[in-house]
Amino acid sequence: MGKTIPISERLESRIERVTESGCWIWTGALTDSGYGILSLRVKGRKGPVPTRAHRLSYVEHFGPIADDDCVLHRCDVRPCVNPDHLFLGDRLDNARDMINKGRDKSQSTINRAKTHCKNGHELSEDNLVPAYRHRARICKICWSENQRKHRKNRGKQNA
Ligand SMILES: [Zn+2]
Ligand SMILES: [Zn+2]
Repeated sequence: MGKTIPISERLESRIERVTESGCWIWTGALTDSGYGILSLRVKGRKGPVPTRAHRLSYVEHFGPIADDDCVLHRCDVRPCVNPDHLFLGDRLDNARDMINKGRDKSQSTINRAKTHCKNGHELSEDNLVPAYRHRARICKICWSENQRKHRKNRGKQNA
């Protein structure tokens, strides 16, 4: 068995920080509903267990939570794992929160108002990362650049 990479490092290597919103966007795998996901080895379970990345991030920064606690987003960006954007609630809070925010309205309105990324690339339809386009407008040029960096770093780790 190889040495285990700490969860904090595994999270860190898959985060892309979006400065305008302060969101830490997950660059790893996503669930169908758009939440970041990380596979973990869990004692007593065969094979890796897929775990929500924002939940892991919350636990990493604030400590353990109960199984039936929900980790919710203040920023409304599902792939975001910035602990400052996360808060704890139960399932009812989750439903209430979605209604209060008018989820579809708020974030997409903010996003639509943005025309350029932090590096000045135009956020045209062609320059958005497709996986996130309905949840956040992320510049494809900067994104690819960062993915390249991530890959290089990961290559180094594995060498
Ligand atoms: Zn966020
Ligand atoms: Zn850009």
